[in-house]
Amino acid sequence: MDWSHLSTKLFSVVYYRFFLKHCYLCRQPSSSTLCTWCQPLLDTKDDRCSGCGTKGEFLSLCGKCQSSKRPWQSCLVATDYESTNSHLIRAAKFHNQHHYFRIYSDILAQKICEHYGEHLPTHWATVPSHINRVRERGKCSNDIVYKTLKQSLYHTIELNKPINRLYLKKQIHTAPQHQQTRTRRLAIPSSLFQCPEQIQGHVALIDDVMTTGSTLEACTHSLLKAGASRVDVWVFARTPASL
Ligand SMILES: [Zn+2]
Ligand SMILES: [Zn+2]
Repeated sequence: MDWSHLSTKLFSVVYYRFFLKHCYLCRQPSSSTLCTWCQPLLDTKDDRCSGCGTKGEFLSLCGKCQSSKRPWQSCLVATDYESTNSHLIRAAKFHNQHHYFRIYSDILAQKICEHYGEHLPTHWATVPSHINRVRERGKCSNDIVYKTLKQSLYHTIELNKPINRLYLKKQIHTAPQHQQTRTRRLAIPSSLFQCPEQIQGHVALIDDVMTTGSTLEACTHSLLKAGASRVDVWVFARTPASL
């Protein structure tokens, strides 16, 4: 018996049946995180580059990703990190309003099901925080991102295989990404992250927000080095290309 599989599934059933009764934005009665009026406020369309996730009408990859390919195979994005989304994600990440993550995890879970059908990645990894950051904040926000997405996915489809979670390690304590300049964010060494175990299989790498993508690139390199046959990136939100 896989108890973590069972407990996540039970938690999802209880949460969606008994607690999720109102829209997260307007508080009108709703059986999903957003009511039918608020849903169109978030642009969740999939006209994006499959490499960097930026919006645009591309056949598959934008010009930038065609000339310099990303190390992952595909990238799924729930929505853009702007206006309402940036406020809600910041509230979830920095002000303990974790329930707002569920708006994005539900959208992403839907896209994951459409993209993979029953052939989901066998392993899931998140971008790790250095242990000093976790101590400072008293929590690891990507751990919450992981759990929320897992619950949304259990609610969306019948998962018949357990998910193997991978724990990457961040070698050095660096300033948070949102406090760094774009040049510094782009200069992340690929050795900053390490995967402490050997992997055989397809990995989904999860993060809340993708800005330049350089952190995700460094994590992807460490997963490929550890033996991953393929890495895909899943993010709640992508910053528009100009930011
Ligand atoms: Zn609403
Ligand atoms: Zn691109």
